[in-house]
Amino acid sequence: MRFGFDVDDTLINLREYAFHYYQEQLGQKVDIDIFHALNRVEIHEAFGLSDEEGKKMWNQSLDFLYFTDCPLYPGALELLKQLESEGHDIFYITSRPPEHTENTFSWLINQGFPVSRENFFCGMKDSEKAGIIKELNLDYYFDDKPAVLDTLTNDPVKAIVKDQSYNRHLDLPRVENWDELGDLINSEIK
Ligand SMILES: [Mg+2]
Repeated sequence: MRFGFDVDDTLINLREYAFHYYQEQLGQKVDIDIFHALNRVEIHEAFGLSDEEGKKMWNQSLDFLYFTDCPLYPGALELLKQLESEGHDIFYITSRPPEHTENTFSWLINQGFPVSRENFFCGMKDSEKAGIIKELNLDYYFDDKPAVLDTLTNDPVKAIVKDQSYNRHLDLPRVENWDELGDLINSEIK
C-alpha cells in the first residue's frame, strides 16, 4: 500500500509547540483550554494579535518551531517504521515554505523517520497537494487541514483526518491519536 502523510499537526505537534513558544516570547500566560478551543489553524487570536501581527509572528518563529524540539505525536514514528518494515511505501507531503525544504528533510531524518529524497515533497501550496497525491497514486493520505482535505473529496485516495479542534466539521474518517490510527490501518490492510 502507498501511504501519504502531512507533517505539521499530523505527525508532529507543531501548533501546541508554537503556543508555548508564543507565551514565552510575548510574556503572556494563556490557558491551554483556549488553545484546544481554537476553531482555525492559526493560533495568534489566543494572544490578542491581529491576522497581520499573527502572520508576522508565525513567520519569524518558523526556524525555531520547525528545527528545534517540536514533539512528535506519541506512536507516530513507531507506526511509520512499522509500515515501512512491512514493505509499504511512505510519502511525506508538506506545504512548509520551499526555503525550509532541506532543513525539514534533515530534521525528519534526525528524528528517525523513514524518509528519502524520493518520498519527500515540500514547498507546494495547500491547493497543490491534491495533484501530488493523485500522481503518487496513494491509497491513504493523512492530514489535519481542512483547506487540503476539502480538495480530496473526489479523489480515489482514502483521506483520513488527524483530529484537531479546527477540523471537526469535516465528514471524513477520523483518528484522534496514532494508536487509533495504527489500529485502523492494521485492521484495513490485513
Ligand atoms: Mg498539517
